Amino acid sequence: MKTTMNAILKNKPTFGGLELLEVDIPKIKDDEVLVKMKKTAICGTDINIYEWKEWAQRTIKTPMIIGHEFVGIVEEVGKNVKRVKKGQLVTGEGHLVCGVCRNCLKGGAHLCRETVGIGVNKTGIFAEYAAIPEANIWAIENENIPLNVISCFDPLGNAVHTALSFDLVGEDILITGAGPIGLMAVAIAKHCGARNIIVTDVIPHRLEMAKKMGATAVIDVRTEKIEDCFPALGIKEGIDVGLEMSGNPHAFRDMVRVMHHGGKIGLLGLIPQDTVINWDDVIFKCLEIKGIYGREMFETWYKMTAMVGSGLDITPVITHEFDYKDFEKAFETMMSGQSGKVILNWEA
Ligand code: NAD
Ligand code: ZN
Repeated sequence: MKTTMNAILKNKPTFGGLELLEVDIPKIKDDEVLVKMKKTAICGTDINIYEWKEWAQRTIKTPMIIGHEFVGIVEEVGKNVKRVKKGQLVTGEGHLVCGVCRNCLKGGAHLCRETVGIGVNKTGIFAEYAAIPEANIWAIENENIPLNVISCFDPLGNAVHTALSFDLVGEDILITGAGPIGLMAVAIAKHCGARNIIVTDVIPHRLEMAKKMGATAVIDVRTEKIEDCFPALGIKEGIDVGLEMSGNPHAFRDMVRVMHHGGKIGLLGLIPQDTVINWDDVIFKCLEIKGIYGREMFETWYKMTAMVGSGLDITPVITHEFDYKDFEKAFETMMSGQSGKVILNWEA
């Protein structure tokens, strides 16, 4: 039997790059399953680790196998595993939670204060095999869902968690940032019956993609103001629901300005700590602002599986696929800004 595997690691704390190395296949604990990877998707977090951004320097202990977005087949189950079966098609939640804190016990595991990230604080899944706790496994029974889509359930879950935090039916929505997650949010808002979906970005190619996903209006904020599209769309009093998905301070500031009184904002984008906004807008317009981290365990997973099964289509967001051995090309593509989600294929 094979005892070693290929894996993509941040091997040393150096700027730029990752290494493809041969390492031992992980041994599963009693409550874990061994997943044989089919496809994995590259996330902005992986790019931060690749480039060795300040956050990564503070957070990643090398050597570390990175990656957390995956789909694969269960190859082996630990002896205490009950629900998950060998041979099942699975993806999984990338946040490991303690299971015993107040929030975990009340069914709010996404609010666990001990959250640990796969591929960040703990061995990741950019490898031929990965050991994952049974509690984190999400099995896929619908055979019609494409593997590439399943491999993106983690970021799709970010978009679903943010968008479903608010009632979108008949509402005017603003999504700032047409990255992969913002683009998925467009499809979700449309699926849920939003009236208008306005999307902003600074990259024309991404705004084109937003149109394809169903945006009612797209705004290049370098040259246009968000409000300029309101008359044509019949928006008289401002935006009802804002989904911040750029992490850009200007985008957040613009959003606060165009919100309707009593409007609601979901903050997913990682905004810099020193971002300044006009607090008068927040207070006098009585805005509700909700921070979003990860996915609700496992309500978000349930909802997204159901929505994908009933017609939510995110396939246009997945633009490239590479053999895992060509990971350098895959990362370059992702970093170019000219892609949506980029997939690594492990089924050579
Ligand atoms: P991304 O970086 O690919 O997309 C961000 C987009 O925002 C880009 O297309 C960029 O051109 C655009 N942008 C830049 N400046 C802008 C401006 N002034 N106005 C409008 N758009 C602007 O990121 P992604 O992978 O789609 O993720 C979206 C955000 O969510 C990122 O900030 C990411 O770090 C964050 N994130 C948060 C969580 C969480 O749990 N909170 C999880 C995943 C990702
Ligand atoms: Zn907990």
